[in-house]
Amino acid sequence: MVEAHQNGVRNALAAGWRALEKGASALDAVEEAVVVMEDDDTFDAGRGSFLNRDGKVQLDALIMDGHTLRAGGVGCVERIRNAVRAARKVLEESPHCYFVGEGAERFAAEHGIPLIDNSELVVDRERIRLEDVRQHGMRDEFAPAPTGHDTVGAIALDAKGRLAAATSTGGTLNKAPGRVGDSSLIGCGCYADESAAVSTTGWGEPMMKLVLGKWAVDRVEQGRSPEMVALEAMSYLKARAGGHGGIILLDRNGRVGLAHNTPRMAFSYKTEKHESVGIKLEA
Ligand code: ASP
Repeated sequence: MVEAHQNGVRNALAAGWRALEKGASALDAVEEAVVVMEDDDTFDAGRGSFLNRDGKVQLDALIMDGHTLRAGGVGCVERIRNAVRAARKVLEESPHCYFVGEGAERFAAEHGIPLIDNSELVVDRERIRLEDVRQHGMRDEFAPAPTGHDTVGAIALDAKGRLAAATSTGGTLNKAPGRVGDSSLIGCGCYADESAAVSTTGWGEPMMKLVLGKWAVDRVEQGRSPEMVALEAMSYLKARAGGHGGIILLDRNGRVGLAHNTPRMAFSYKTEKHESVGIKLEA
């Protein structure tokens, strides 16, 4: 699935950049980029996500505006095609920051998001994968030699200097119904403030224990480069909690940090001077 992942992140980058070129906010750009990856069943977000123990897709997403600190999240939604769109509605139209389950779906429907049948999010590849786990047991999807496919995330800086981040996921394979990972929790798998924006992927439990997103943003705020902090975050994740994953990090000067301690992580980024699409960072 290497090529599919690269195409997916390239398409997401194009959608985000298009939005920025039209003068849209960083918040709009990350939403558009994430929607492209949610709609692409290559990734563990939206249609094509890992299935939970009940054979259902259960989605979590967060979107956050670094300038205002406004954030919107949804957890454990089963009937929404694009969880990040629902998260954006929470950010824009609710005094609350986070909705889960049926209440999240009701909120989304009341704000113009159509509810679908969960089966529309399920693909055969994932039915087979779940069956395999049922028969042979579970392994760490993010450890070496994984079969994994990833949570998606996007971070952006707009012409007005505003940063934003969004993360969307189907969570982990065979998860218990109702389980929420790091991805949609503020400061864990997604965070933005005025100094940096971050999104992570990986086994959620170790990452949330370390509040890894905020950990990284705080270090950038203290003056360290996103490049260094991304590497340090992966070392910290492994050393302190035995975790595997990846991180993307962007500061207010447009400096990018990327790192993963999994064998691969698909990524793409673009500045006015440079564009890069890849699946594995050079050592
Ligand atoms: N972090 C996600 C979770 O634990 C999974 C992933 O990144 O692929 O829910």
